[in-house]
Amino acid sequence: MHWAPIEKQPQSWAVRPNLLDYAVTCADFSWDDVRREFAGLPGGRGFNIAHEAVDRHAAGPRRDHLALRWLGSDDTVRDFTYGELKSQTSRCANLLTGLGLGKGDTVAVLADRIPELYIAALGTLKNTSVFCPLFSAFGPEPVCQRLRRGDARVLVTTERQYRHKVAPFRATLPRLQHILLVDAPDHGSDGLLSWSRLMAEAADSFVIPPTDPEDVAVLHFTSGTTGMPKGALHVHQAALIHYITGRYVLDFHPDDVFWCTADPGWVTGTSYGIIAPLLHGITNLVDEADFDATRWCRILETQRVSVWYTAPTAIRRFMRLGVEPVRSYDLSRLRVIHSVGEPLNPEAVVWGEKALGLPIHDNWWQTETGGIMIANFPALEIRPGSMGRPLPGIQAAIVRRTGPDSVELIADPEAHGDLALRPGWPSMFRGYLHDEERYRACFVGGWYLTGDLARRDGDGYFWFVGRADDIIKTSGHMVGPFEVESTLMEHPAVVEAGVIGKPDPLIGELVKAFVTIKPGIEASDELRLELIGFARKRLGAAVAPKEIEFQANLPKNKAGKIMRRLLKARELGLPEGDLSTLEKSE
Ligand code: AMP
Repeated sequence: MHWAPIEKQPQSWAVRPNLLDYAVTCADFSWDDVRREFAGLPGGRGFNIAHEAVDRHAAGPRRDHLALRWLGSDDTVRDFTYGELKSQTSRCANLLTGLGLGKGDTVAVLADRIPELYIAALGTLKNTSVFCPLFSAFGPEPVCQRLRRGDARVLVTTERQYRHKVAPFRATLPRLQHILLVDAPDHGSDGLLSWSRLMAEAADSFVIPPTDPEDVAVLHFTSGTTGMPKGALHVHQAALIHYITGRYVLDFHPDDVFWCTADPGWVTGTSYGIIAPLLHGITNLVDEADFDATRWCRILETQRVSVWYTAPTAIRRFMRLGVEPVRSYDLSRLRVIHSVGEPLNPEAVVWGEKALGLPIHDNWWQTETGGIMIANFPALEIRPGSMGRPLPGIQAAIVRRTGPDSVELIADPEAHGDLALRPGWPSMFRGYLHDEERYRACFVGGWYLTGDLARRDGDGYFWFVGRADDIIKTSGHMVGPFEVESTLMEHPAVVEAGVIGKPDPLIGELVKAFVTIKPGIEASDELRLELIGFARKRLGAAVAPKEIEFQANLPKNKAGKIMRRLLKARELGLPEGDLSTLEKSE
């Protein structure tokens, strides 16, 4: 690999962290002060993420600064300055306007981490349409379900993704009007359009329409325990959180090169893999390739990465490389490392110090919060194993439900409870698309209940305990057991299925399914493999079960619901807990 290193910056590398005194910063903090740092759209026409992330810099001294460096799997490099990013995203916005898309229309993108994904995301925001990323490792079922539920009118994708995942189901997607293929040289039949041709024809300047800070900007699907995925709606002013966490948590400084390894198919890859670094006018690095520890070391070295945002599964994989091989790279530019998505084990924090010369900071947030809420801050003491303390401006607490609409605060530093946030921060989700009831149910007694269990120690550090529901976190990706169960039950041999997350030392949890098959069918290894293949084809490798176990009966409660909690306890050899609701026939 021979990527050109990013030009050496004249800055002294001994920078002062942006947040030095946590208590003082919290005491002085106001969202209005953050808001005042943005001029907004010219002529007082509102607040648009793409203006703040791209056009604002392109119109000022950062015009020729490297905004996006893309590293291709085949070692190709594509660079975009802020000026170039402005032209490209304006072309995309014009292209969408030309197709009749405007405010509130959904543009879905199903692609690997290619430059067009980033241009489409920002162009969509410019056009005041709604960007909806779809993870490229999803199979046809999760993809089509999200396109349908998200009312997508345009899909930006590649030939391969389209043919395999969307084309066979096109008839079930009546609202999907245009498919833009980034690798098609010319337009085809069936409403298939060539992205490159339309981009070449579109003008490279665009006036962003008036944008209300509360206009919906991004639609992120996240899995639930029951029912189909939930579409969390985020608004333009969510960028205030991306901006302020860029300053206080990721500690951005003007000459930073930032690398967020998350895929934009997940919220981290959008909020931090696209928006936050650009809001700060710094260089954002994107690697197209999948994880490879040696490649990652080379990227960190040659690209002179100074701030790195990654995930526990990646760090655990990295740890396998050993301390010495990592130390043989010159990582002297690296200043801040953060991790999110799953519990970061204390050994990983300590390993970071040995191998990378820096501790790894854990932080916590979720799709619904839109941005980082709890973090270990660079200038503060790290408590390995803890998620850290709330961001200034964020009120977090541990609560216990006391009634249908009431909670009480838990002050005991040893006690576990529901992790709750006081509603009202700018990036809070504004709804679940088409599911007002589910949205309302998240707010109890004046708090947003996150679905996580945690505790808060005497010094205000939060410690993750687990999920309050059956959601699975595998390689940092959320998987809803219901989606997997529904797919398995489409197989003719399956009567019912119960799916759990089985703890795994590398990927956090692996998806395991317990399956009851029809009488007369043999529970063989062939069938097991067939079911795994069946699920993979439909759901994609990121979601499909890795293990399947046949069981004559699955434990159910009196309402006939499979008790995943019990399946998990039995799998782990843990106490079975309260069995009063277990149906006797089990
Ligand atoms: P997602 O909405 O896919 O980003 O997943 C959010 C969920 O991931 C949270 O509700 C937690 O269950 C988990 N999570 C995120 N960050 C952390 C962390 N630092 N430690 C433990 N769990 C985390």
